[in-house]
Amino acid sequence: MGTSKTNINRRQFLKNGTLAVAALGAVGVGANYLKHITKVKNENLLRPPGAVNEDEFIYACIKCGLCVQICPIEAIELADISDGLSYGTPFIDPRKQACDFSCDAMQCVETCPTAALDFIPFKKSGEKAIEEYDKTHNPSDPDYNIFIPQSKAMKAHTDMGTAVINLKTCLAAQGKGFTGSPREDSFTGVYRSPNPKRQERKATPVNEHAFKRDLCDLCVTECPIGDSAIVMDTEDGKNMPRILDGCTGCGVCVMICPSIPDTIVIEKSKTV
Ligand code: SF4
Ligand code: SF4
Ligand code: SF4
Repeated sequence: MGTSKTNINRRQFLKNGTLAVAALGAVGVGANYLKHITKVKNENLLRPPGAVNEDEFIYACIKCGLCVQICPIEAIELADISDGLSYGTPFIDPRKQACDFSCDAMQCVETCPTAALDFIPFKKSGEKAIEEYDKTHNPSDPDYNIFIPQSKAMKAHTDMGTAVINLKTCLAAQGKGFTGSPREDSFTGVYRSPNPKRQERKATPVNEHAFKRDLCDLCVTECPIGDSAIVMDTEDGKNMPRILDGCTGCGVCVMICPSIPDTIVIEKSKTV
């Protein structure tokens, strides 16, 4: 039996209609899926230095892992599948291994191929620091070293977040001291001490440093930024560490704090 033109048109119409409904369904499912994975992205991951706004970061980061490879202290990890849309993106868990700026040059930022970690602001702050340094230093002086002010300025420019201290568990706030290695025996984190007497060229295990403090102040003395970031303060006759505007959120204080339970967390920067 031949097929009439009317039948073909009807069939065609039904076929096209079915395809259109299927396509619309697929778009709907896709949109819902996107909505879902966007919702389930992990907003709490602490990003490496220089990370752009989280919403942009998710799309700018191509999950190449170059920042992970370049970090000399292995501070950066990649998020896993349970982090939803954030899967494969870099983050730092400072209680495990903080960024102590061991690289001195923001290597993770510099190496990022898509500017998800944006180097431009660091470049600007480094250039400005050299300019200032050159006003008061003579290049023929044997101590002339632009690298020190440059890396200091770049470090201070970091804004990963801000440390928040729980004074209920802080040893200093309870008037307690601390003696020994800061972390549990199995801890493998490293850092480079900022103490000039123990100035190290390279990071060494946190637990190789034995401390003896009548009043705990490790978060203050071991901070790589110094007194523009954290100081020991007194309030109502009680000593307690106080976080200042210069805190970069690097997390060294989080890593080195000997208190159990964990006493310091990094509140992620709103602009990051
Ligand atoms: S800035 Fe910090 S996280 Fe980035 S490479 Fe250097 S030490 Fe590692
Ligand atoms: S290192 Fe921890 S326990 Fe010690 S003063 Fe700082 S926050 Fe308190
Ligand atoms: S207080 Fe210092 S060590 Fe702690 S996060 Fe801020 S800059 Fe880093």
